[in-house]
Amino acid sequence: MSSKIWLSSPHMGGSEQKYVNEAFETNWIAPLGPQVNAFEHDLARYTDTKYAAALSSGTGALHLALIMLGVQRGDEVICQSMTFSASANPIAYLGANPIFIDSEKDTWNMCPDLLLEAIKDRMAKGKKPKAIIPVHLYGMPAQMEKIMAIANEYEIPVIEDAAEALGSTINGKAMGSFGLMGVLSFNGNKIITTSGGGALLSNNEDYIHKAKFLATQARENTPHYEHNEIGYNYRMSSVCAAIGRGQMEVLDERVEQRRNNFQLYNRALSIFEGITLMEEPAGYYSNRWLSTLLIDPEKSNGVTRELVAAELAIDNIESRPLWKPMHMQPVFKGSAFYGNGISAQLFEKGLCLPSGSNLSAEDLQRVIDNISKTLSRPKKSDQFTVVNDEC
Ligand SMILES: *Cc1c(COP(=O)(O)O)cnc(C)c1O
Repeated sequence: MSSKIWLSSPHMGGSEQKYVNEAFETNWIAPLGPQVNAFEHDLARYTDTKYAAALSSGTGALHLALIMLGVQRGDEVICQSMTFSASANPIAYLGANPIFIDSEKDTWNMCPDLLLEAIKDRMAKGKKPKAIIPVHLYGMPAQMEKIMAIANEYEIPVIEDAAEALGSTINGKAMGSFGLMGVLSFNGNKIITTSGGGALLSNNEDYIHKAKFLATQARENTPHYEHNEIGYNYRMSSVCAAIGRGQMEVLDERVEQRRNNFQLYNRALSIFEGITLMEEPAGYYSNRWLSTLLIDPEKSNGVTRELVAAELAIDNIESRPLWKPMHMQPVFKGSAFYGNGISAQLFEKGLCLPSGSNLSAEDLQRVIDNISKTLSRPKKSDQFTVVNDEC
């Protein structure tokens, strides 16, 4: 059997171990301490935000952001439908109701027109949404200029889910720095990893200060343990932060490597009829966390996404359909949805390809050859013609 090619696996840079050793040698193994402070400093500097809080997960960061915005039971929070469930779950943790918004076709992210329609409609129904959560799916920035303009007009705070988009920018401005708060993830499959972890970014010191407070069990500043609020255990450990420091040193390289994957796939596969890979809108820079393609069986000689995935699997190559939109998920059945059909189509036709920064040239060629072969497969009717000629 050929060796396994993963969708996106961890890729250490070399100096992670050095920082981990530093944590061990100084016995800073507990959460907090110099490794965590240094990692937060790195994150804020890289994204050009003023403050960062390193946390145990991106999901936890979103949860705290919603809590700080005062989201409560029965409130409504607007969220992109085409995303991973972690964008929406924290809304449910608080007993609030997600209002899902469909995608636009240029970035596959939150459609600004539907966002505006939803805000007006919810307000007409008597409830002003408490927050807006756009997502930069697969690293491609959402249309933040338009989304921020609408959010500002209606004075609704934006929490940017940049979990997949560290290293992505619009006109040089980092994703995660557009909204009131930004969320990052360092889960094992993300562009850099701390083995598990997340962060909250903001230019507003109060939010970051409060996030750190809530993330350490909301302990008041007294000699004994005093609590006026419900707290959480969401802080990042020193060991994880040490890994993160090493990963930050190679982040730009990782972005380059993933962008290179995309370029190779694009060059080799977009020549096939019925295959599309997403271009970057002008000024948009994607970290290309995952390379994806859309397969239109009506134009691809009847070759479906399922067939391409099945052939890859036979050769021990991992692929995955695009994320299933939240408005189609059984768990969110009954949630409000403002749609145009785009995310459902994407889910039907889209496939995520192996995209790790540690893929070798041979790995990438194996993926490309496999897909090219599936796409060049003659139609049944063609085969029939050939057989006839030979008779
Ligand atoms: C990974 C991810 C998250 C959650 O991050 P964790 O660190 O795994 O909790 C949230 N949103 C999106 C879009 C993600 O891809």
